[in-house]
Amino acid sequence: MSHSIPNVTLNNGVEMPILGFGVYQVPPEETEQVVTDALATGYRHLDTAAAYGNEEAVGRAIAASGIPREELFITTKLWAQDAGEDKGKRAFDASLQRLGLDYVDLYLVHQPYGDYFGAWRAMQELNRQGLARAIGVSNFHPDRLVDLIEHSETAPAVNQIETHPFFQRAADQEVMRAKGIQHQSWGPFAEGRNNLFSDPVITGIGASHGKSVAQVVLRWLIQRDVVVIPKSVRADRMAENIAVFDFALTDEEMSRLAGMDTGATLFFDHRDPAMVSMIGTRRIHD
Ligand code: NDP
Repeated sequence: MSHSIPNVTLNNGVEMPILGFGVYQVPPEETEQVVTDALATGYRHLDTAAAYGNEEAVGRAIAASGIPREELFITTKLWAQDAGEDKGKRAFDASLQRLGLDYVDLYLVHQPYGDYFGAWRAMQELNRQGLARAIGVSNFHPDRLVDLIEHSETAPAVNQIETHPFFQRAADQEVMRAKGIQHQSWGPFAEGRNNLFSDPVITGIGASHGKSVAQVVLRWLIQRDVVVIPKSVRADRMAENIAVFDFALTDEEMSRLAGMDTGATLFFDHRDPAMVSMIGTRRIHD
């Protein structure tokens, strides 16, 4: 199947497909098959993380696919436990080894906790060495993002944050736009929370285009210039989620969707002290 997926151009000139495939919560023992199916469906942009425990399986699927490396866009992330300059470099080497790759396309600071300035210095170096073609962050609120920019040589290329119809992040996106940082959504379907897949507003919009709720949500994000990485373990849904480039939402539909924003997270508030402790101290290796 062939899908022409448009790229966005990051602030360092690197091209990134606006739609990719996420593997959070895909069990390691299922991940090789799931990623093999995603690649066969036409996905070329994959999003994993050291903390997902499935980098090795992603790497095996990449190797088995025979797809030329330059046609793929591979993202992984540095966990808070590995924040710091030396620890960051070691964590990157370990991720690269597990993935079986010579470089990644995007390396992200997974959480705004611990010594992420040290991690960022390591990442800048990896970027200069060509080992990470682009570097960025995840779960950074605008204040942390601006602080990192003001005190670093290289601005992040991407900020990957929770973004879906119930938490749209328009103000965050404005700051990112002004600073030249690409907005990337995680949890585009809010993992189905708030009955997203049977939401009457989105279902109604989908009906007028012959499209599903999932397709309307992805299309809405793409029309907002937000990079998306939906996850599914099912091949039929992988195909559904990639078929979003043959229709367009009208301005009126875009504003109806804008009206769904609650301005609040459905997952973790990254500024909640209890979350800062819980996520920030989670260990993923010895
Ligand atoms: P999503 O919002 O992508 O939702 C995934 C859920 O939706 C799964 O339960 C899936 O079920 C279901 N689903 C997928 N497609 C359809 C469809 N067409 N119709 C009905 N149900 C569907 O959640 P994620 O949290 O996985 O977010 C996407 C990616 O973002 C992650 O995989 C990860 O790569 C990244 N992420 C990053 C975070 C960060 O901190 N940086 C945090 C969370 C996610 P099924 O699989 O059974 O089809």
